[in-house]
Amino acid sequence: MEALIWTAGVTVALALALLFPRWRLKQVLARPMPPEFIHILSDNIPIYSRMPPHLQEQLHKLVQQFLHQKKFVGCEGLEVSDEVRVTIAGQACLLLLNRPSRVYPALHAVLVYPSAFLVPRHQVDEAGVVTETRQDLLGESWGDGRVVLSWDHVQRGAHNWSDGQNVVLHEFAHQLDSESGSNNGAPYLGSQSNYRSWAAVLSRDFANLRADAMVRQQSVLDHYGATSPAEFFAVATETFFEKPYQMAERHAELFSEFMKYYRVDPREWLPAPEPAPAPPYGGIVYGQWQ
Ligand SMILES: [Zn+2]
Repeated sequence: MEALIWTAGVTVALALALLFPRWRLKQVLARPMPPEFIHILSDNIPIYSRMPPHLQEQLHKLVQQFLHQKKFVGCEGLEVSDEVRVTIAGQACLLLLNRPSRVYPALHAVLVYPSAFLVPRHQVDEAGVVTETRQDLLGESWGDGRVVLSWDHVQRGAHNWSDGQNVVLHEFAHQLDSESGSNNGAPYLGSQSNYRSWAAVLSRDFANLRADAMVRQQSVLDHYGATSPAEFFAVATETFFEKPYQMAERHAELFSEFMKYYRVDPREWLPAPEPAPAPPYGGIVYGQWQ
């Protein structure tokens, strides 16, 4: 009898442990987003005001869930204000719009430094020589459920939405990449045919970017993307959201793969860039007298 009571007690406790977080989340999502949070989104992420109302509404719910489930930790004296939390969550959740995915299920904590942070690096070369260095970083994404960010660069990235550089989009793209089980430039894509076309297009454009980077040929994708397939996916994500017109023009198939994955077309939120002025004298460019 006693064993039966114990079993029943454990079953109830397990059911509560499973159901309580879901019930709490439902309560959180039932509330509208506080107006002060909406002001932060409008002031700090200018692209937000250009989005259609149905996507803004989706973003509110995703941000509310993100803020409810993820822990923010201020480092080197940074105070984690609502502005810090909402500005980071607002950009991170742009990557989840229109998609059935959960809100970064493996992510537990976002660590925020006031500006670029120094990280010790331990390298061993072929001869076995160990080198300890310190590297300045703007952001890092870890497979153990942490993202580390520089607040300075989070703000700059959100305000300048045309340079193709955004540390939040970059680091959270790495989080999406790792949802497939490894950080290899292919996030979870569903069917085999999706993986086939993704691999064909991305491996070709990755090889082209490596060739461009080698000879320092300018490209719409930042050359940092040539360092590995994982960095290529993160850099192409920044480009997709910040320079969609240029990416669609110069990397049409890559843009189309990203539209299938992210299920949005950021060209609908951004004005087309001004066309470059035509060179004088019918395209002939004269060298300057030295
Ligand atoms: Zn990266």
